[in-house]
Parts: sequence; structure tokens; C-alpha cells
Amino acid sequence: MGSDRFDVLREQVRGQVIEEGDADYEAARQVYNGMIDRRPAAVLRVSQAADVIAAVRFARGLGIDVAVRGGGHSAPGFGTVDGGLVLDFSARRGVRVDPAARTARVEAGATWADYNHATHAFGLASTGGIVGSTGVTGLTLGGGIGYLARKYGLSCDNLIGADVVLADGSFLTASDAENVDLFWALRGGSGNFGVVTSLEFRLHPVDMVHVGVIFFDATTGADVGAAYREWIATEPEEMGAFLGFHRGPPVPFLPEEWHGRPVTVIAGMWTGDPDAGPAHWQPMLDAGEPLGSFFAPMPYPALNIMFDGLNVPGLQGYWKADFLRTLSDDALRVAVDKSPGIPSVHTANHFYPIDGAVQRVAPDATAFAYRNVDFSPVIAAQWPDPSENERNIAWVRDYWTALHEFSEPGGYLNFQDADDQVRIEDTLGSNYARLAELKAKYDPDNFFHINQNIRPAPAAEAQEAREPAKIPAELQAQLDAAPRVQPGAGSGATPSEAAPTS
Ligand SMILES: Cc1cc2nc3c(=O)[nH]c(=O)nc-3n(C[C@H](O)[C@H](O)[C@H](O)COP(=O)(O)OP(=O)(O)OC[C@H]3O[C@@H](n4cnc5c(N)ncnc54)[C@H](O)[C@@H]3O)c2cc1C
Repeated sequence: MGSDRFDVLREQVRGQVIEEGDADYEAARQVYNGMIDRRPAAVLRVSQAADVIAAVRFARGLGIDVAVRGGGHSAPGFGTVDGGLVLDFSARRGVRVDPAARTARVEAGATWADYNHATHAFGLASTGGIVGSTGVTGLTLGGGIGYLARKYGLSCDNLIGADVVLADGSFLTASDAENVDLFWALRGGSGNFGVVTSLEFRLHPVDMVHVGVIFFDATTGADVGAAYREWIATEPEEMGAFLGFHRGPPVPFLPEEWHGRPVTVIAGMWTGDPDAGPAHWQPMLDAGEPLGSFFAPMPYPALNIMFDGLNVPGLQGYWKADFLRTLSDDALRVAVDKSPGIPSVHTANHFYPIDGAVQRVAPDATAFAYRNVDFSPVIAAQWPDPSENERNIAWVRDYWTALHEFSEPGGYLNFQDADDQVRIEDTLGSNYARLAELKAKYDPDNFFHINQNIRPAPAAEAQEAREPAKIPAELQAQLDAAPRVQPGAGSGATPSEAAPTS
């Protein structure tokens, strides 16, 4: 079908332009979070960088918003926009590995499952997300936390170059050798600076890993968490394991009576000498009375998709995040207290360790500033039934308010939701001012604003620039309906302050 309005774009691109009324429209407008129900004017299935150059110029001419979608996993649904043009990279998922140079060139729509499948053939990997279906691009541009972070740093620390289409439609490459300031901003500044069409990563030898998953009764989570804190601090960086609070998933190694009940979990992998794996896991087995456990050597890509069945597209989702210098007894007490309210088996309340190699990068070496915190907690609430939205959003807010008392002001950008926009300066911390200046240099009109938005520094009357992403009416109504909670003594914004009003 298609309207005249987009005919000019159709003539200029190789990718499919999908509009309302087209057979593919309903599928093309969906993102991972089922709470997001936006209707873009068109979705362009990008086929190459030339399409992006044409599309950016076309959208500017038409005066419509552009949203950029890698894997579509953004909790606030920044991969789509009402009435605008979506640049959807889902058809561009190629990965080319250079085993001699130990690098990988990745197209912007690849997922971590795509990436790990390609690199594992050569016994290589770099830090990626813990779920296979998450996009490489969005995760890396915001930082990138995963099992390999202690050993090899964040995903963005492994980035060595990116091809980028800027807001004026020009194309350039950013790396340590060219456009160095843009390369700096891309590593933590998210999608604020342009459309990334491909990325290049450094790879490391990672092959078979020794996986461990141990469940405990969540009422013992404070003791288990304290034992985990001491254990992970002394474990070599080959151990990548997080602490989590869940509802017991229906897995065969957890007794059925615990399915759906609050549990504490330690999960992760040992990448050192495979024979040494069991001895490294043993202290956590001894940390309490395990309800069930699973240990096995497996290929790293197999672990990467092990929890994908709990993280399915279409679930309702609402997230919040913090940064903790340490996993204090107070923070653990909050996690235990809140665990009876965990919305469903799909919810992940995780505390990821980001010590080791993450902290060997200086805070000003990349845009990701928080290099002095040991843990990145996420309250990633996911549930299937929209009628439970109000209650579950309230649970996340209540939990976050209690936890934030023991947190740094910021939280990991990729774990935040739409109403965390007000935290952007805290989240980017000491690097925010430089990022705002680079935003003014590379995107002075704030053309790329469907993201955790960095406003251009106010040199060129840039405050005239467009507003950051607005929360759509239907989501705003759900957020407004959820009860508000009083903030603790923490230094961040309250959830009610956090919702943009303009
Ligand atoms: C189930 C699940 C598991 C997760 N696990 C982890 C984890 O282990 N570690 C972790 O660090 N994070 C994790 N996340 C959070 C994840 O990092 C963010 O959701 C991230 O935005 C996902 O990237 P994406 O490409 O899939 O998202 P998208 O929604 O496609 O993109 C999100 C934003 O990234 C930017 N972006 C995407 N593609 C481009 C591009 N080509 N050019 C420019 N900007 C672009 C844009 O601003 C876009 O709005 C997880 C999320 C989910 C839903």
C-alpha cells in the first residue's frame, strides 16, 4: 500500500518502507516491551548505510521524529515513536570475525546470540548481555554489562570503532584514530550522537565455560548475599556471577514446590581452567542451604541463551536502576523485604558485579563515568498481564525508593525507564558536561532525542532544541495511576519528579 508521503524515501532506499495498512505494519511497530503501543508513520527496514543517510535527510525535510532500533530491547521503548520514522536494523545482523586480528565487525541489528554464535566458532568472545536476544548496538552504546565484565570490561570497553550517520546525514567513522571525541561519546552516551550502522569489537579467548546456578530461600537472602559479596570480591576475574532475587523458575533442578516462590539465586560462569570450576563454585554452595543447583561445562553461547525463555517479547515491563559502591547489609535487607512482591517468574532483580577490568578504565576515558562502584543493580520487572501494570509499577517504584537510599546518585542508563530522564545528569555523572558539548557539536538541534536524552550544551541557543522523548499518553496514564511513594534519604530524584511533564 503506502502513502505518497513516503514515495520519495522509497525511491532512495533499498530497504522496505512499511506504513499503516501494510501487511507487515503490526509486526514492524512492535518492540520487546509489550507495554509500548506506539504507531510510527513508517518503519524502514534498513538494508545499508546509504538507506540511513537518505532516511535521516528525508525525515529532517519532513520534520518528523526518528527512532533507531537495534535489538528493540529498550525498556522505555526508544526503538519506536508515534508518528515518526523508525530505522529498524533487524535485517542487518551479520558478524564478520577476523580470528588473526581477534576482532569482529558487526552490523547494527545483530543480537548477542548472533554475535556469540559467530565468534564462538573461533573460540573468541567479548563482553555482551546475559540474554541472547538483546541487541548488540543499544547495549554497547549505553555501556554493556555481562558475565565477562570483570575480566574484559564493559561491552563499550571492547568497542574499537563504529560507522555513524550524523544528524545532517553525513557519514563518518569513529575510533581511537579518527573522530576521537565522537568515539569517546559513543561509549556510554547511548544513541544521542548519530545512527550507528556497524561496530567493530576486540575479541578474547573464551570457549567452554563452567556454568553455575544455585537457588536459596529468599528469606535467607541477606546471609547468602553477604557471603556472595565476600566471595565475588576475592574470586579471580575469571568468575562472572551475579546475585539475584526471583520467583523460582520452572526448571528441573529447582524442586517444584519452589516454582513461583521468592528465591535468591547466584548465577554465572567460570572461564578459567575448566577442571578448577567446581572448587571455585563450592563456597557459594556452602553459603546456606541450597534448594537446588546446576553445574555444567557448556559453550559460552549456550549460557547466553539459557534464560531467553524467561525473557520473551511482549511481556509488560517497567525498570529502575542504581549504582552501589558496595552490596551493603542495608541494600540486601531491602532486597529481601521486597522479594515477596516480585511480580512474576519473568522479573529479574539482579546485582551485577562491575569491578575488575571495568574499574581499570579511567572515569573520563569513555563516556561511562561510574568506574568506582562495585555493583549495578537492576529492578527489571516483567509480567504478562496488563491488568497488573499499576500494582507492579508501584512495586518497582517502592523498591527503588528504598534501595536508592544506599546508592550513588546515578544508575546504569540501559536499565532505566522513561521517567528516569530527569536522572540523566546523575547517570552520566562527571562526564555529563562534556557529553552535552559533544551533543551540541554533533547534533545541535537534538534531532536524535528518542533516547535517554542529553540536551545540547546551551551555546547556540540550543535549549530551543527539541524536547526529550515524551512518555506516550497511554503509558503516562498507567504511570499516573500507580501509587506514589515518598523518597528515602537518597540523593536522586523521586519517581514522581522523574516523569517529564512537557
Ligand atoms: C531481557 C533483557 C535483558 C537485558 N540484559 C542486559 C544485560 O545483560 N546487560 C546490559 O548491559 N543490558 C541489558 N539489557 C538492557 C539493554 O542494554 C537495553 O535494553 C538496550 O537498550 C538494548 O539494546 P537494543 O539494541 O536491543 O535496544 P533498542 O530498543 O533497539 O535500542 C535502544 C536504544 O539504543 C540506541 N540504539 C540502538 N541501535 C542504535 C543504532 N543503530 N544507532 C544508534 N543508536 C542506537 C537508541 O537510542 C535506541 O533508542 C537487557 C534488556 C532486556 C530487555
